[in-house]
Amino acid sequence: MSEEAQFDAIIIGGGPAGAACAYTLAKAGKEVLVIERADTPGAKNVTGGRLYTYALEILEEGLSQEAALERKVTHEQIMMLSGDRSISVDYHNPAFNTAGQPPMSYTVLRAVFDEWLAGKAEEMGAMLVCGIMVDDLIEQDGKIVGVLAGEDEMYADIVIAADGVNSFMAQKAGLIADIKQETVGVGVKEVIELPADTIQQRFNIKEGEGAARMLLGCTEGIHGGGFLYTNKDSISLGAVFMPEGLADKKKSVHEMFQELKMHPSIYPLIEGGETVEYAAHLVSEAGFRGIPQKLYRDGFLMIGDAAGFVINTGYSIRGIDLAILSGIAAARAVIGAENAAAAGARYVTELENIKLLPIMKAVDGYFDLLETPFIYDKVPNLAIDVFDSLFTVHGDVPEKMSKNIMKLIKTNGLSIWQFIKLGIKGVRSI
Ligand SMILES: Cc1cc2nc3c(=O)[nH]c(=O)nc-3n(C[C@H](O)[C@H](O)[C@H](O)COP(=O)(O)OP(=O)(O)OC[C@H]3O[C@@H](n4cnc5c(N)ncnc54)[C@H](O)[C@@H]3O)c2cc1C
Repeated sequence: MSEEAQFDAIIIGGGPAGAACAYTLAKAGKEVLVIERADTPGAKNVTGGRLYTYALEILEEGLSQEAALERKVTHEQIMMLSGDRSISVDYHNPAFNTAGQPPMSYTVLRAVFDEWLAGKAEEMGAMLVCGIMVDDLIEQDGKIVGVLAGEDEMYADIVIAADGVNSFMAQKAGLIADIKQETVGVGVKEVIELPADTIQQRFNIKEGEGAARMLLGCTEGIHGGGFLYTNKDSISLGAVFMPEGLADKKKSVHEMFQELKMHPSIYPLIEGGETVEYAAHLVSEAGFRGIPQKLYRDGFLMIGDAAGFVINTGYSIRGIDLAILSGIAAARAVIGAENAAAAGARYVTELENIKLLPIMKAVDGYFDLLETPFIYDKVPNLAIDVFDSLFTVHGDVPEKMSKNIMKLIKTNGLSIWQFIKLGIKGVRSI
């Protein structure tokens, strides 16, 4: 690359947001440069493991058919853990396996998926350079005009920050402040290799089918939860913890995660497997209210995690699909605007048109629900206690179930009033 180069757009980051944006811009004939700090796109990226594929179809019809995906999620599972005990709910809908049926999500491995998507952008004509980190933005007369990577200066009509959560580029542009610990979770994850047959047997799934499991009650009362996804030949197992709660614990995230792995209901699922990847990453938890007040300035836009586009409802995390949507919206804004200055305002309109902002707004209330501290330990423990009493048979005359439940609510340090309040909050939230 020459020391000075001029492009229509420079995209910082080759994750799903950057790749989708580059794809759309290049398809429209724009000269696009994507700069990715990892040796290959996705090498440093972390996801629990699923993608809602409608976003790929918006990027290009038929794209999800050829995407580098793992298993179609046909089993949606929720597991509550407490001590050595557990309750599992398995919702199976074979229609989730039929093309065109919602929600059509697939498990993914980011190193594979991101490289594939960035490759598609290259096929469209985008230029991708890997192993280079953007250090700074170049500003002239109040306008962002390019980027600085080491000694190299590169210029563009518009610079698009797709550098992920805690975006340094958005900070340098003055659009976000340094990260606040109450707005992000710390995620850890292992990819554990196992033969496909073993995975299918253990999860009672057919070839090509997959399970997505949310785990509640595995964070020692800290706001957070676990996840487990079945890939073709591996299992993605991980957990997210809010840093605020971690400070009071005497255990490290690693220790808590190891305990999760050894839980009697989890270990048999991963037994004999080989850990081939261990990763840690931040995940935005603030949802709609975490979106920065301004998503652009003259010559600069932010997309994907950099703009806080992540939804956590407790039973699912969505970030990759929103990253793709925001990449498309940004590209459409750049293509449709008369000049870079006009692209910013148009970007917000495109985010509305592609339904990203309305979707995030619609589920904003989940944030309040997930702020309820006792849902992370006392509620799973109570549910398991109730199941325990349901299935325990002995020679004594059983107590009335209603009386028993009231007793269990009390022994778990809860009250009926707390449940009424939770119910009201829940109804308001959804
Ligand atoms: C534990 C965990 C579980 C999750 N589970 C799910 C899930 O199951 N489903 C889901 O949809 N979402 C999930 N998410 C969220 C999802 O991973 C993100 O929303 C998504 O990756 C955002 O994509 P992005 O392209 O905006 O950012 P990223 O994927 O983070 O990509 C940013 C890219 O920018 C590059 N970069 C950063 N700085 C620079 C720089 N200065 N110069 C050059 N390159 C740079 C990085 O290397 C990276 O490739 C999860 C996240 C975590 C942490």
